[in-house]
Amino acid sequence: MLSDLELLLKLQVIDYDLGELERSKEYLPDMMENLNREIKAAQEKYDGATAELEQAGINQKNLELEIATKEAELQKFQQQMMSIKTNKEYDALVAEIDSVKEIISNKETELLETIDRVSTLEKEIVEFEEKSARTNDDNNRQLEILQEKIDSIGDKVSGKETERKDITAQIPRPILSTYERVRRGKGGTAVVVVKKRACGACYKALTPRRVQEIKKGDRIHTCEYCGCLLFWDEATSN
Ligand SMILES: [Zn+2]
Repeated sequence: MLSDLELLLKLQVIDYDLGELERSKEYLPDMMENLNREIKAAQEKYDGATAELEQAGINQKNLELEIATKEAELQKFQQQMMSIKTNKEYDALVAEIDSVKEIISNKETELLETIDRVSTLEKEIVEFEEKSARTNDDNNRQLEILQEKIDSIGDKVSGKETERKDITAQIPRPILSTYERVRRGKGGTAVVVVKKRACGACYKALTPRRVQEIKKGDRIHTCEYCGCLLFWDEATSN
């Protein structure tokens, strides 16, 4: 036969577990959402780089084509140089040549940058693809575990509630109602251990006489300041 105190401590553990199960209904779906968001983000990063690489490849081809066209134009102008007759014609042609050369030089700079970007993207894509696959595997494994946890909450809660009924049936009504009242007010913990000759919840000092009474453990004592149910534990009270 368990003492009232032992029953209360058992009850408190059950109530803590029930509270955790209740909280897990909130945080487990949040955790799942985060894992799904990570999967999506990794995939989007890979997709984004793939799309950019495709565009960069098109840009590269276009630039090469444009440069080739301008090179042909430049050659044509340079041939025209041979048959120049006047200074005015000469000046005009030189201006044309300079302008085409400048365009070619700009396009070549752009082409080099594009080629650089292509090679960076090609490396990144390999990385992003691996990261995405790994995130997918890891997170889906965790998602499966979390889903199982969510699915089992109902059974766990009813198990704990059955245990709770068994215990509360053995606790005298007035003690149980004190426990329930304090627990509601304190948001959980109602039975606390005496620590350094003080209440373990509000830390108000207890008189030596009260400590002695609590130590005896023959009945339930409550803290006169915070209402918590107090008990002595040889291992941790001193
Ligand atoms: Zn107290």
